[in-house]
Amino acid sequence: MHKILILPGDGIGPEVTAEARRVLETLVDGGDLDLSIEEGEIGGVSIEANGVPLTDETIDRARGADAVLLGAVGGPKWESIERDLRPERGLLRIRAALGLFSNLRPAILFPQLAAASSLRPELVAGLDIVIVRELTGGIYFGQPRGIDTGEHGERRGYNTLVYSEDEVRRIARSAFDVAMQRSRRVTSVDKANVLESSELWREIVTETARDYPEIELSHMYVDNAAMQLVRAPKQFDVIVTGNLFGDILSDAAAMLTGSIGMLPSASLNAEARGLYEPIHGSAPDIAGQDRANPLATVLSVSMMLRYTLDRADLAERVDDAVFAALDRGLRTADIAGPGDAAVGTRAMGDAVVKRLATNGG
Ligand code: NAD
Repeated sequence: MHKILILPGDGIGPEVTAEARRVLETLVDGGDLDLSIEEGEIGGVSIEANGVPLTDETIDRARGADAVLLGAVGGPKWESIERDLRPERGLLRIRAALGLFSNLRPAILFPQLAAASSLRPELVAGLDIVIVRELTGGIYFGQPRGIDTGEHGERRGYNTLVYSEDEVRRIARSAFDVAMQRSRRVTSVDKANVLESSELWREIVTETARDYPEIELSHMYVDNAAMQLVRAPKQFDVIVTGNLFGDILSDAAAMLTGSIGMLPSASLNAEARGLYEPIHGSAPDIAGQDRANPLATVLSVSMMLRYTLDRADLAERVDDAVFAALDRGLRTADIAGPGDAAVGTRAMGDAVVKRLATNGG
């Protein structure tokens, strides 16, 4: 039996995770899945209850779970408190505690929503790519780093871009494993024409690919990748890259879809256990009003089924239920077009769950 820990968090977090929980429960009730679901506190709600954004007890429960589903944290109420006690610290702590080094950021654009993109619909309709970003190494963590004053009194700031063979090997494996669940094409993005760390990156990714003969691997310089992402994004399937390049490219790719309420994410550790969460925040402006789009969190459940629970069949059923709800014309306010009547969080969840209950395998 799998164990899932849900951490709803703040703002719209409880509303969107409630719908995602119903999706999991529908699969359990239909006899498709055997799992236990627990809930815990993170972020502002944990500060209110326990004085800290994440307790050691919750970390232990997260470590004991196969997967964690997180809503969102933060809000105006906690913006002025000491930095170390802010809700966002809870997120950083749980990522570190679970050793999550592989960040999966899909950019999916359902054809029904193609008009929301800043690109022409024919370039993006049906877009479905995953950016696998190394999350715990590279220039964001490399030593030495700092700002100091040189001989002539002029200050200089510096950081170190460093990747070890092991770090590259494990993120490459993670990306290849993801690609094996998809169309088996991986583009590794680097800057090997200028950076030695990228030269090693390319060498190790190529070497690791020998263990995955089914994978079609290509390499691309990051400047070209940025250009190709806005020129012809559908040429990509899985992109694997380092922390800095991944940070930038994944945000650019997300914006191709034009709908923050639709985008899921996953962060995995070496055992493919993970933390699944929508990429959006706690949206305090619409919290508690039944206006939040729950689909990013529902699609995070789909990723959980695929990448941690190894149930691609059920992930496809969830994706299909989301597709069907959109096809019926259901839109929450964030994705509604000019003439569309918007439905609420709960009604969108109802539509997905209803379809899921009837599209059994
Ligand atoms: P946000 O993502 O919460 O909201 C940005 C805009 O998008 C808002 O207008 C909001 O109403 C809308 N939006 C977001 N998710 C939506 C959804 N599911 N359905 C419909 N509309 C949606 O970003 P923000 O306003 O910059 O931040 C608000 C709070 O969230 C801050 O406290 C911030 O620190 C926190 N935050 C948390 C996370 C996280 O938990 N991972 C990520 C980003 C921001």
